[in-house]
Amino acid sequence: MTERAYKVYSISSGTVIDHIPTPLALRVVEILGLGNEGILTIGMGFTSKRLPEGKDIVKIENKVLTRDETDMIALIAPEATINIIEGGKVIEKRRISLPDGIRGVMRCPNPNCATNVLGAQRVFGLASPEGPLYRCRYCERTTKVEPDLLITSAGI
Ligand SMILES: [Zn+2]
Repeated sequence: MTERAYKVYSISSGTVIDHIPTPLALRVVEILGLGNEGILTIGMGFTSKRLPEGKDIVKIENKVLTRDETDMIALIAPEATINIIEGGKVIEKRRISLPDGIRGVMRCPNPNCATNVLGAQRVFGLASPEGPLYRCRYCERTTKVEPDLLITSAGI
């Protein structure tokens, strides 16, 4: 088998998430709640000029992620770039920015918060792009987004 056989193959339509710092590809997949979308290709540890520590790539075939979905990626990988592919060509290069709100996928670190005690819906609003910091709608606690606070496969 040649080395080429190990490379991530190209897709003719769908979404390519590039420049994810290694090893965050699986986190990105979790935050997006992906899994039953058809073919998902994850490549990890590619060399990258922009990311000296290495980059990961996620390819989702036949699914164009919405802007709300791709903005969620900015929570853990703001350097990521999004390419929308159609007919084998890149039809859109999308920049991502922090979402104004986070619903569902982040846990409040306050153990007494209604979202943790009573099962209230988790909703956060952007408090500051530095951090980034988000404010819980219930207890008002401001939280820096950490991968450990993000819940897997909660949907968006
Ligand atoms: Zn809270």
